[in-house]
Amino acid sequence: MSALVGLDVSIRERLRGIVGAEHYSDAAEDLYCASYDATLEQARPEAVVYPASADEISRILRLANEAGFAVTPRGSGTGLSGASIPVAGGVVLILTRLNRLLEINADDLYAIAEPGVITQTLADAVAKQGLLYPPDPGSMKSSTLGGNVAMNAGGLRGLKYGVTADYVMGLEVVLPTGEIIRTGAYPVKSVSGYDMTRLMVGSEGTLGVFTKMVMKLVPRPEHCESMLAVFADMAAAAETVSAIIRAGVIPATLEFLDNVTINCVEDFKHVGLPRSAEAILLIETDGVREAAQREAEKIVAICHGHRAAEVRRAADAAERDRIWEARRAALSALSRVRPTTILEDATVPRSRIPEMVAGVRKIAATYNLQIGIFGHAGDGNLHPTIQTDQRDTEEMARVEKAVDEIFALALSLQGTITGEHGVGLVKAKYLKDEFGEEGVRAMRAIKRALDPNNVLNPGKMFR
Ligand SMILES: Cc1cc2nc3c(=O)[nH]c(=O)nc-3n(C[C@H](O)[C@H](O)[C@H](O)COP(=O)(O)OP(=O)(O)OC[C@H]3O[C@@H](n4cnc5c(N)ncnc54)[C@H](O)[C@@H]3O)c2cc1C
Repeated sequence: MSALVGLDVSIRERLRGIVGAEHYSDAAEDLYCASYDATLEQARPEAVVYPASADEISRILRLANEAGFAVTPRGSGTGLSGASIPVAGGVVLILTRLNRLLEINADDLYAIAEPGVITQTLADAVAKQGLLYPPDPGSMKSSTLGGNVAMNAGGLRGLKYGVTADYVMGLEVVLPTGEIIRTGAYPVKSVSGYDMTRLMVGSEGTLGVFTKMVMKLVPRPEHCESMLAVFADMAAAAETVSAIIRAGVIPATLEFLDNVTINCVEDFKHVGLPRSAEAILLIETDGVREAAQREAEKIVAICHGHRAAEVRRAADAAERDRIWEARRAALSALSRVRPTTILEDATVPRSRIPEMVAGVRKIAATYNLQIGIFGHAGDGNLHPTIQTDQRDTEEMARVEKAVDEIFALALSLQGTITGEHGVGLVKAKYLKDEFGEEGVRAMRAIKRALDPNNVLNPGKMFR
């Protein structure tokens, strides 16, 4: 990273020549807008460019290798790990002009999109043809598909449908050295060569820039049933999650809110959540009408059998919306309480959720912090959310220690440091705790092989 250089006048001129003067900027406000994401991290680039094609991106990366400056890809900047922050200065490559939805193929069940397409735009377009694009991150109204693929974003439907990686059939990628390659295939099956698609998915803009993506679609389920189950103790809620799966039912969605989160949501949205509950589970089944209904009945019985104090089943779309409003509002509700919100995504096997929740509570008590917990119970993907104040240095020191302990706890429970938000900047220091020096060395070797001059998104993933 230290070998990288700044942008001199001639490099800036050549960048303008590649993208056109109107798609290049070094105005302070544009540099500021490319300097942050949804974390507390910030760093300014020296220029931003808005390329319109793979060829322009290839020429920018060839120039970066020749001159030695850093290039950081950026979608909508909604990331929760600092992965898009240009810590080495240089150029930010903003991919929002590449925003065409090129094809929806209802026979072969795929869509071809450019990376700047907003996730919700794809979901809406395929829904009109009776199809479903399942990955539904909470940020889907603003995140780009390129950002989703780069971070392997998850969402509420992860339990039944999987994450973004499960829906990427192929990519067009500009490699860090400027060559343009194609990965994957259009048929549902292909075992041709190394699985470069899987390598690229989740690579956080460090191994290549995606310029076209073939995304898998599925038929839209005919019907869904939503439920809300209230628990007076955490262990009962967690046991219910395991019991549902053991009974052979895989709900589309199985979400969890703890008591802190329930009360913040209630203060904010007044949706009628029981304030004294220790935990609630929000559950949805989908599929053929009769099957979704039968599964819902099974789930209601399991909840009652596991000491649920109350189970509400949505009678109509309005009631369903009210149930999901509670989950959609969780992060915003927790964020209103203190000036700074730190959202983590430590993830454990779902059977270890009770230990994880108890451990996070103990950590909160040890460091005298308010931590709400919500998340994708079915995936074991919890979001301990710390309500704090960045300006209070003493409190932030306690927050840092608490975060270290949360990740150590997740790893001790056979978990992972990140279920969906990625490593980026903020979790780079924990990567070797998960994979060891050797594991990280193997990852670095891949990075070096594809990016020998370390120009593409340097300073991320590894520390
Ligand atoms: C309110 C809120 C809710 C969220 N909910 C979820 C959630 O439910 N699940 C979840 O997984 N995440 C969630 N996120 C995090 C975030 O939205 C996702 O990580 C998303 O995938 C980022 O997309 P983006 O377009 O904003 O990418 P950016 O933040 O701009 O970039 C993210 C990374 O992708 C790289 N990148 C972007 N485009 C490309 C490209 N074309 N080629 C190569 N690399 C590229 C960047 O270099 C960077 O490393 C949430 C964030 C917020 C603020």
